[in-house]
Amino acid sequence: MTTENRFLTLLHNAVHDDAPIMIDGAMGTMLMAAGLMFGDPPDQWNVLPDKRDKVRSVYRGYLQAGSQLILTNSFGGTSYRLKMHNLQDQVFEINKAAAALAREEAGDRVVAGSIGPTGELFEPMGALTYAGAVDAFAAQAEGLAAGGADVLWVETMSDLSEVRAAIEGAQRAAPHLPVACTMTFDTRGFTMMGISPTQAMQELASLNITALGGNCGNGPDELETVIYSMRRENPDLPLIAKSNAGMPVLVNGKTTYVASPEVMGHHAKRFRALGARLIGGCCGNTPVHIAAMRQALFTEAPLDPGSVHITVDVAERKTAVRRRKE
Ligand SMILES: [Zn+2]
Repeated sequence: MTTENRFLTLLHNAVHDDAPIMIDGAMGTMLMAAGLMFGDPPDQWNVLPDKRDKVRSVYRGYLQAGSQLILTNSFGGTSYRLKMHNLQDQVFEINKAAAALAREEAGDRVVAGSIGPTGELFEPMGALTYAGAVDAFAAQAEGLAAGGADVLWVETMSDLSEVRAAIEGAQRAAPHLPVACTMTFDTRGFTMMGISPTQAMQELASLNITALGGNCGNGPDELETVIYSMRRENPDLPLIAKSNAGMPVLVNGKTTYVASPEVMGHHAKRFRALGARLIGGCCGNTPVHIAAMRQALFTEAPLDPGSVHITVDVAERKTAVRRRKE
C-alpha cells in the first residue's frame, strides 16, 4: 500500500524546508465557551444533532487561524471515560464522528485523532490491566481511523505503561497510521507519575512513534524545559510543544488563563529555537492565540537558538524548594 499519508507528507516537507508546523489550540476551552457544562462529556457532542455544528466551528476556527493540523474532539473517547456517562457502547460511533467532522472541515489539512488517558490507575493501585487498556485504546483508534484521521495523537499522558498501551492499541487497530504522543509534565518538571522528559524520550522513542513532546501543564516556561531536555536526549525525533496558556486563575468565578496571544507568540518562537517542530497550544489557547503564534512563527525572523536559554531548571528548582523548606 503506497497511499500518501497527509501527516507524514506535512512532516517530511517541514523537515526538508526546516519549517515549523502550526497545530491547534484547546478544544475543551472552546466547547465550554460554546455552552458545554462542566462535567458533561464533550465527546458526545460529535453525535448530538444540535451540537455537531459547534464542534465543527471549533475545528473551523483553528483552520481559519492557520492550523495545519487539528486534533479531534475525542480526548475522553475510551470506553473507560465514556462509561462515566453511560456511553461506553458508543465508542466507535463517537470517535468516528469526531474524526469525520474534522475531516470534512479540514480538506487537505491534517486530522489528528486525539486519544486521552483512561482516567484509571493500573493494578495493583487501580483496576486497569495492561491488556484491558490496549483493547480500549484499540477500540477508540478504530473509530478515529474509520472517520478519516491521518495520525493517532496520544496526549496528556502521565503513566508510561498507559502510553505504551495507547501506542500498542493504536498500532494494532490502525497499522497504516502514524502515532504521535505527548505527556504532561506538570509536577516540578515530571509527570504526575514521576516521569521526566528524558526518561519519556528514552522509553518511547523506540516504539515506532513519529513525534513526541509535551502538552498541557503549567505554562510555556516549564514546557520549554521539557523540549530542551527531550532534544538533548534525542536530536532527531520531531518534537511537539502544546502548552497551556500559562496557569489558570479564577476571575469572577470563571477559569481564565494568564498568557495573552502575544505572550504565546513569543514562546512559540522560543519553542522553535529549542528544537520543537510541531507547535500549538493546550488549555486556554483560542484561535486568537494560534493566529498570534502563527504570525510569530511564519512572518517574524526566527530566534537565534544560541540566544535562547531556558528559564526553569528543574534540578535547580528542586534544590531551591528544598532549601526554602530548611
Ligand atoms: Zn491542557
